[in-house]
Amino acid sequence: MKKPFFSHRALRLKLLMWYFREKRDLPWRHTRDPYKIWVSEIMLQQTQVATVIPYYERWLKTFPSLAVLARAPLSRALELWAGLGYYRRVRMLHRAAQHVQKKFLGRIPQTAEVLKKLPGIGRYTAGAIASIAFDEKTPVLDGNVIRILTRIFAIPQSVDQPRTLEKLWVIAGSLLPDKKPGDLNQALMELGATVCFPLTPQCAQCPVRKNCLAHRKGNERFYPVRSQKNSYKKLRMVALVLRNGRSGVWLEKQPEQGRWGGLWMFPFWTHKKEMLSAINPLGLRPRLFLKIQHVFTKYRITLEVYESRFEKRRFLKRPRGKWHSIKRLAGVAFPSPHRKIALALEKNHPRTSFPQKRASTVRRKISRKRGRGLDSPENIASKTAVTDPGIYF
Ligand code: SF4
Repeated sequence: MKKPFFSHRALRLKLLMWYFREKRDLPWRHTRDPYKIWVSEIMLQQTQVATVIPYYERWLKTFPSLAVLARAPLSRALELWAGLGYYRRVRMLHRAAQHVQKKFLGRIPQTAEVLKKLPGIGRYTAGAIASIAFDEKTPVLDGNVIRILTRIFAIPQSVDQPRTLEKLWVIAGSLLPDKKPGDLNQALMELGATVCFPLTPQCAQCPVRKNCLAHRKGNERFYPVRSQKNSYKKLRMVALVLRNGRSGVWLEKQPEQGRWGGLWMFPFWTHKKEMLSAINPLGLRPRLFLKIQHVFTKYRITLEVYESRFEKRRFLKRPRGKWHSIKRLAGVAFPSPHRKIALALEKNHPRTSFPQKRASTVRRKISRKRGRGLDSPENIASKTAVTDPGIYF
């Protein structure tokens, strides 16, 4: 790391002054309730701010406290999460709420050290909750903060190396003030989300441009340095939209223990041949309905969706399956690719209303208010570097 030509104090002051002047008015910034901050942090992993807002508000109306969430069945939590994706987050949140009720008598632990032992809470989330809700002087480091710090300090080592990440945790910690460290953490997150974009950093609007070594050298996009190139695995899958004569479609609930535990999916197979051998005995002649491209972790999935009609009440006696009204699909918890199928079906049934519509309305409203966009798509894509791992769909 090159020696900076400024003090950490100067950098901190610039960041804080900018944050108080420019920060977006977001619902979770009006509270220091650790439960609410926790919910917002979990929802914001891998998901845009504008999408999260309506889900966050709906969630808190239904589960206003940790105790209410802990008592609720997981299926209710999954319903409210429907459309946000990465459902492991909600399963872990629900499990952690029950754990806190049982082991900590409902009091959320106040230190990052204890918080990160709870299900679904990694080092980043623990730091965010402890610093914002409890004023603990503990740093956060996600994709945004990594990008900013590697640029300001022109760090040439690869951020794929654990040693580099450890160094960045130390730098992030050294910037924190004694009082209200959560504000500095939020200032860094905000700068990454609204100014220091991965491909198009808005250096002219940046409060720390005079302190940024990468900007002085004009090679902002060189950082963060990565040694591993993303290599995606291609996967093909096949799904079937099976309709009955009464606006119903057949969905199957996935076993609780699997990757998509508790979620509903259209029947799916890994090859078209498998699908045909399963449904040909019923005399079904499926036709291609749509193709969906989906990326998650290291996979690029092409999902071919077929449709067919089936007038009888049962489908192949497949376990955990039942007919669902197309009009009510909005309230069903799907993994993301299958939700896209449901959205396509929605077009023919306008009374179905998915929460994404509300998210886009909120996005438009905020953009108008602030006079600029929220997270840029490129920035959102970059948010995967050091968020809590192990989340799927
Ligand atoms: S000056 Fe540019 S590259 Fe440096 S932190 Fe600010 S926005 Fe990022």
